[in-house]
Amino acid sequence: MTDLFDTHAHLHFPDFADDLVAVLDRAREAGVAAMLTIGTDVETSRAAIALAARERDVWAAVGVHPHDAASADVEVLDEIERLAASPRVVAVGEIGLDYFRNLSPRDEQLRVFEHLLGVARRVEKPVIIHCREPGGGPAGARTNAPPGRASGVPTNDDAPVAHVDVLHLLRAARVGDVGGVMHCFSGDVGIARQCLDLGLHISIAGPVTYPSSRALPEVARFVPDDRIVVETDCPFLPPQTHRGKRNEPAYVAITAARVAELRGRPFDEMAARMSVNARALFRLDSSATRE
Ligand SMILES: [Zn+2]
Ligand SMILES: [Zn+2]
Repeated sequence: MTDLFDTHAHLHFPDFADDLVAVLDRAREAGVAAMLTIGTDVETSRAAIALAARERDVWAAVGVHPHDAASADVEVLDEIERLAASPRVVAVGEIGLDYFRNLSPRDEQLRVFEHLLGVARRVEKPVIIHCREPGGGPAGARTNAPPGRASGVPTNDDAPVAHVDVLHLLRAARVGDVGGVMHCFSGDVGIARQCLDLGLHISIAGPVTYPSSRALPEVARFVPDDRIVVETDCPFLPPQTHRGKRNEPAYVAITAARVAELRGRPFDEMAARMSVNARALFRLDSSATRE
């Protein structure tokens, strides 16, 4: 039996308001045994918890996305900390740095990220990290990726500044104590190695299925068996066969199949392995996530 775990979805976003029941049905049909729905501010974090309270196979994460950092005052941060202690909340996230869209100034992003890493330590839950470079989206999502990126050696104008800052803060916060995952990983093998050294998991998303993807397939082969997980990041980033449309948890099977193919492993075996990893990361009793 297929056993998949979508480690990053935004099921409580308005994109799913009209047909969430059907979306969840299709996910279960496809073998998705567990889903983690991710907050990006106070309102969506509350919505994530409410959904997780209703659906036995959905868990929640609460956080402030770097896009929303500028509006995260003390009250917001305190409320996230309060929500983070809820029993259905298994992680603090998504949090991190986004130097691509820069919707919040970098110093605000750094302030909020650092604070929420402290929250994760206090509530003793793992973190879900968002990290995006100024040069663009996930590696391989770009069709004009410079040759340096393809070979895993950053060129000067393609230097991984966001990852450097993220790694610095994660190291300072001793993230290994609580654990965490680099969601929708977009770095190269060198950055993956540094994340693994910090004790983090690496999550592979839909871009690994894009024909233009260069560094990501290499990363999907490189990450050790016990540290790799998959996600959709739905409604965003659909895999190749659904590009231009809304993404949903059922499609995590497509991404997992590509990861299994890249690693030369049977699909069901690789899917189950990644679900075991996700349950260990989020400290879920495996019996609680199955039928
Ligand atoms: Zn993200
Ligand atoms: Zn997300």
